[in-house]
Amino acid sequence: MTHDDNRLGFETAAIHAGEEPNLEPGGTGDLVSPIHLASTFAMDRAGDPSHGYKYSRLGNPTRDALERRLGALHDATHGMAFGSGMAAIATACLGLVSPGDRVVAFDSLYGGTRVFLSEFLDRFGVGVEYVDATDPANVARAMTDDTALVWMETPTNPLLKLCDLAAIAEIAHEYDCPLAVDNTFASPYFQRPLDLGADLVAYSTTKYLNGHTDSIGGALVTDDDDLAEQFRFVQGYALGSMLAPFDCYLVLRGVKTLPARMAHHERNAQAVAEFLADHEAVERVHYPGLDSHPQRDLADEQMDGYGGVVSFEIDGDGAEARAFVESLDVFTLAVSLGGVESLVEHPASMSASYVPEDEREAAGITDGLVRAPIGIESTDDLLADLDRGLSRL
Ligand SMILES: *Cc1c(COP(=O)(O)O)cnc(C)c1O
Repeated sequence: MTHDDNRLGFETAAIHAGEEPNLEPGGTGDLVSPIHLASTFAMDRAGDPSHGYKYSRLGNPTRDALERRLGALHDATHGMAFGSGMAAIATACLGLVSPGDRVVAFDSLYGGTRVFLSEFLDRFGVGVEYVDATDPANVARAMTDDTALVWMETPTNPLLKLCDLAAIAEIAHEYDCPLAVDNTFASPYFQRPLDLGADLVAYSTTKYLNGHTDSIGGALVTDDDDLAEQFRFVQGYALGSMLAPFDCYLVLRGVKTLPARMAHHERNAQAVAEFLADHEAVERVHYPGLDSHPQRDLADEQMDGYGGVVSFEIDGDGAEARAFVESLDVFTLAVSLGGVESLVEHPASMSASYVPEDEREAAGITDGLVRAPIGIESTDDLLADLDRGLSRL
């Protein structure tokens, strides 16, 4: 069977793209990509081996399989796999900015991205403007001729705010500036930033793409040959930020069920969000699939679904919120998201604890806020667990 990976339907690409059984003489027909652990490859010709592989940091057959699949899931020419989401994000930024450049970024970015931009790029003379990108006019106002990168994320963590990617792409392109989108929360199943005008998509594959809570990894996807060349240079030569072969195998395996898992995550998340919205011990629920979400129309326009993460404010203080998250049985108290199991965390004392309290409150991360990435367990068990926990408040 041979096929053009970029013409397959999403579900088909998730299973088959990049993982072509080798039926040539000498091939073994493995249906599943072997894990190529070699650090270096024997060459038939000095410097120019006919199989194309030289040294595993620069290129590896298992990583190639995953990278082809990541590209195919976006109908894009270039997918790249990294040792973590942060490695992917750092590689993208380092490939795109030089001293004197400026970055315009959403003020609700993932904490690690914010630390990288503010505390690392800053040392190299790159300034960052944070804007409330829920209104694209704020992005437009922050753009200057020195802006070399616009970095967005939608939906955001932990409040599930959205930004209008098509409108922001148009603004960035007026300044010949690339738009990068961290699409970790939506996954390519629910949102396709390249189709909305973005130039680059970034992921933590640790989350939904791998989906089984057993690998840290990241990805970049683009259709732009020049950007891809920059990123490959940083990935292979400058940083060595690539994903190891065993983890490439895990993500190749995990991504096969991405469509099935995402649909299930969303069904459960919608049920949980509706249950919480009706519960007397809950003050507010943040989920793009609820009519009460202030950007529900934008979600309907630019997404194919609302994702699997729900956050909510309980009617209580920080101590009560901590007691609540510690009291659940089916939900596991842990950071991260995107695995098959439901998790729960208290941002004010966990993922956002490094943010000073006044800034945290101003950003809407109140002491009563709880974040729950919803897994694919039985819906009734999840609702009963939450109900038990809330009734103890
Ligand atoms: C987890 C996460 C990252 C960082 O990814 P790691 O794999 O932990 O390095 C970046 N962005 C978002 C939105 C995330 O959720």
